[in-house]
Amino acid sequence: ARKFFVGGNWKCNGTAEEVKKIVTVLNEAEVPSEDVVGKFFLKGGAFTGEISAEMLLNVGIPWVILGHSERRSLLNESNEFVGEKVGYALSLGLKVIACIGETLQQRESGSTMAVVAAQTKAIAAKVSYWDNVVLAYEPVWAIGTGKVATPVQAQEVHLELRKWLHDNVGAEVAATTRIIYGGSVTGANCKELAGQPDVDGFLVGGASLKPEFIDIIKSAT
Ligand code: 13P
Repeated sequence: ARKFFVGGNWKCNGTAEEVKKIVTVLNEAEVPSEDVVGKFFLKGGAFTGEISAEMLLNVGIPWVILGHSERRSLLNESNEFVGEKVGYALSLGLKVIACIGETLQQRESGSTMAVVAAQTKAIAAKVSYWDNVVLAYEPVWAIGTGKVATPVQAQEVHLELRKWLHDNVGAEVAATTRIIYGGSVTGANCKELAGQPDVDGFLVGGASLKPEFIDIIKSAT
């Protein structure tokens, strides 16, 4: 069985005071907590403002989010570059949440599956050990917009992604890899999404900074 996985992506948010508040709430709720998640550039070097994979490991951060649409769009990270980062992170022993997802324009033109398959292919090319990888389907049009994918829309893409893994990687990897959903997940909409057979958890932005994050963590069915 695939263990339900919920990640909180605070992005570039959170003053010390805010973080203290949400951490207190989470600790009091006694939710199962695993690890802190980071984000990085690649191997260290002359890259002002970035964080290296080595730095994350050095401070004891085991998980990293890669391929987020904000980095793909704002920093022009290509599918190949994201794949390279995934491979590098895994080679050092980091665990990876690899993000994929289509824009509204791509969805409306009917190319959702082609887009996420190409993104997944570039990632899969650099993965030899899938136990340390979680795939996060995050439609760009749903991120930070309040427009959550419907359970049917999410399930449709997650199932296709699992089929892609089955056909291109293997049956075992397809059956065991967690595919989580991200994009305007809230305490109010998480339960129905979590009920979909191929939705194995969430990657949560805005709501992960609020007490409702606890409801999302507990939404496993
Ligand atoms: P929101 O939950 O704020 O839409 O952000 C989702 C996201 O980008 C998580 O990585």
